[in-house]
Amino acid sequence: MRALCVFSGGLDSILAAELIRAQGIYVLGIFFETPFFSSMRAVKSAESMSLPLKVVDISRGHLEVIKNPRYGYGKNMNPCIDCHAYMFRIAGEMLEKEKADFVITGEVLGQRPMSQTRKSLLIIDRESGLDGLLLRPLSAKCLTETIPQEKKWINIDLLMDIKGRSRKPQMGLARKMGITEYPAPGGGCLLTETVFSRRLKDLLYSNPDPELREIELLKIGRHFRISPETKIVVGRDEKENDAITGLSGKKDTLLSTPSIPGPAVLISGSISRRALDMAASIAVSYSDLKTGGETKVCVSSESGSRTVYAEGREKEVFKCYMI
Ligand code: SF4
Repeated sequence: MRALCVFSGGLDSILAAELIRAQGIYVLGIFFETPFFSSMRAVKSAESMSLPLKVVDISRGHLEVIKNPRYGYGKNMNPCIDCHAYMFRIAGEMLEKEKADFVITGEVLGQRPMSQTRKSLLIIDRESGLDGLLLRPLSAKCLTETIPQEKKWINIDLLMDIKGRSRKPQMGLARKMGITEYPAPGGGCLLTETVFSRRLKDLLYSNPDPELREIELLKIGRHFRISPETKIVVGRDEKENDAITGLSGKKDTLLSTPSIPGPAVLISGSISRRALDMAASIAVSYSDLKTGGETKVCVSSESGSRTVYAEGREKEVFKCYMI
């Protein structure tokens, strides 16, 4: 008997995998990777518990889910019900190839207000297409019977009846199972973060079919939307400057201040005279020259490089454009 565990690397998924392994069932962890959550935590947790783990990139399909979630968003751009259903659907499609019999997850009844209510869990079951093959070991005793229980592949008495928002039962179970190392709860998904969500919403509004590098760009720098067609991204340190330069696209324009230390500035979208003047002024304002002086700004694009001159201004002036 084999199970696929949709594995985030957090305590709940660690416990779900261990509860099933304790019944002598082989468990393969699956981490679904997108630009919004990195596999680092899952890889570290899987290593510490010797869980075989596959990292599967679902970026493209997942982005479609984000654009148009059937069951809406949480507080930010997190479409948790659709996201879970999508991941479990893919896990279901992997069952045959991985010679596995069912899917498990660390979801806990009532833990999350949007995606883990009884109603949401039922929707996720239905939308995932897993038809009774989705088992939630931490709450199994409080939920509808699944095929692994019905067919006695697993012993339900050895599973749990955890529900609600408190983490104490999981921490108690971890202690009982000798699990001492696990990550702190929360975090991990950029779609739950306010600033990132605002930037993503802005990007999808101006370009409904963005490249993955444009999503990567949302994670760094300061972002200014100066017109519906034009956005400016400004590095905050050397590392971000290098990253912005590396993530620039063919049609983007890059600005720098060659005579003084300053940010890498990227103009994405159409480049009008106003956009160039503003980007050049931003480049100087965020450089070491700051306000009051004029300096050289190097402008590079597909069509070549040229030099313009710009003055630094008070940063406050640009605040109203910040995304
Ligand atoms: S928090 Fe992020 S990864 Fe988790 S279900 Fe919601 S959208 Fe998906």
